[in-house]
Amino acid sequence: MEDDLSMSNTNNPVLEALNASAANGVYTLPPLPYAYEALEPHIDAETMRLHHDKHHQAYVDGLNKAVASLKAIGADPAAATPGAVTILEEDQAFHGSGHLLHSVFWATMGPNAGGDPTGELADAITAGFGSIAAFRTVFAAAAAGVKGSGWAILSYEPVGDRLIIQQVKQHDLQLVAGTTPLLPLDVWEHAYYLKYRNVRPDYVKAWWNVVNWNAVAAAYASARAKR
Ligand code: MN
Repeated sequence: MEDDLSMSNTNNPVLEALNASAANGVYTLPPLPYAYEALEPHIDAETMRLHHDKHHQAYVDGLNKAVASLKAIGADPAAATPGAVTILEEDQAFHGSGHLLHSVFWATMGPNAGGDPTGELADAITAGFGSIAAFRTVFAAAAAGVKGSGWAILSYEPVGDRLIIQQVKQHDLQLVAGTTPLLPLDVWEHAYYLKYRNVRPDYVKAWWNVVNWNAVAAAYASARAKR
């Protein structure tokens, strides 16, 4: 961990974003690592501004509030009912997962990106899904198929030392425990509706053009090293 922090922030944008996502025990909004308009024409500047500054900030605030409330509620046993604690636990999972996924989402996109993965990441994708093309097919279908709000995520699964595609509902439902998100795609309507309206598959198709595979490869190497 020390080595990661000291040597690889500049070439590991995901780690850099996660380091900026908390400070002194309080969760914080990591800065967008490029301009709001940097992902044009694939993702529009107004969507990026609202999504990062308003939506992601709300998850940060919700997470800090849930954590503080869970810490405080134990001091008053009469208030710490199963119902009250359950609501806070749901808030912590929802906002905490939302904060993490958005932090990785920003860090794995960029201008002048897209193309195909290379190196060990490409080898692992091919091993896991048959081919890069097959991975894209299943990932896009997972993204298109989310019922309501959620994510498609390429994740590292440490028990099997393999890559998996996850289809997550909201931010936290249907997650596989212990996995590390390497490439999350937000398919909540707030991520695409201003430009793509109801046509989510067009947004997914455009998003491939802004995937920063170097960032994903660095995150994969880091996740494997911690296994
Ligand atoms: Mn979002």
